[in-house]
Amino acid sequence: MKASIKKQQLHDNLLELNLPKIAETYDNYCKDATQRNLAYSEFLQQLVNEEMNFKEDRMVRYRIRWSQLPFTKKLEDFDFAAQPSIDKRLIDELATLRFIDNCENVIFLGPPGVGKTHLATALALRACQSGLKTFFTTADTLIRRLKASLADGTFRQRMRRLKWPRLLVIDELGYLPFDRQASNFFFEIICNRYETGATIITSNRSYGNWGDIFDDPVIASAILDRLLHHSITINIKGKSYRMHDKIASYQSV
Ligand code: ADP
Ligand code: MG
Repeated sequence: MKASIKKQQLHDNLLELNLPKIAETYDNYCKDATQRNLAYSEFLQQLVNEEMNFKEDRMVRYRIRWSQLPFTKKLEDFDFAAQPSIDKRLIDELATLRFIDNCENVIFLGPPGVGKTHLATALALRACQSGLKTFFTTADTLIRRLKASLADGTFRQRMRRLKWPRLLVIDELGYLPFDRQASNFFFEIICNRYETGATIITSNRSYGNWGDIFDDPVIASAILDRLLHHSITINIKGKSYRMHDKIASYQSV
């Protein structure tokens, strides 16, 4: 068999075996290995590493896309000095993602602009980078989509999809109050995920006011009961960072 046909066959077989990166790069690696007189084992190791890195990158990109994060802010972008009410050690602990393994919940409470969404998103990004299935939504969008899904018959499917992510982020709970139906949906989501998945919630309302978010104080306390059983609450105080930016630029003029 001609060398070029053999080469094409190897290429096709590698693709068939779902090893696209090796198929793409082995030619260069072969030349390099010959030039540098590499041991066979080392040559093989390099090729396999290349494929592993490629697959890992692809999976992380897929996880990030699937998660629907609103932006990709990182923990490293967070200015802890500007926000002394947060214990950085606690955030560092959360960044290990042990809370996801333990199916614990994290609740960020505080006024607008103090970094709740930033921190929730940054933790969700970490989860994606670790290959964990993650989904981000605002409370409002979540309920709107669930209500719409009743009409097109996909409600159960949507509910199931909210059960499986290892990390679910529900942002901005409490900006808009829930009616009875929305409160029941929310209760079902929290019940489904209880001790089976980690959930991050951000809210501008303290727990004492959660009765006002949900239509019924009995549902509110049942939700809090499950949510808080294995949970970490981070109460953020202080002024909006958006104002901090403005004040800083105003002072520098
Ligand atoms: P919240 O969700 O509490 O309303 P955000 O997380 O949306 O606030 O923060 C508002 C903006 O300010 C975002 O662009 C965020 O990245 C930024 N921000 C807030 N706090 C900090 C901080 N301590 N360090 C860096 N950026 C911050
Ligand atoms: Mg926010």
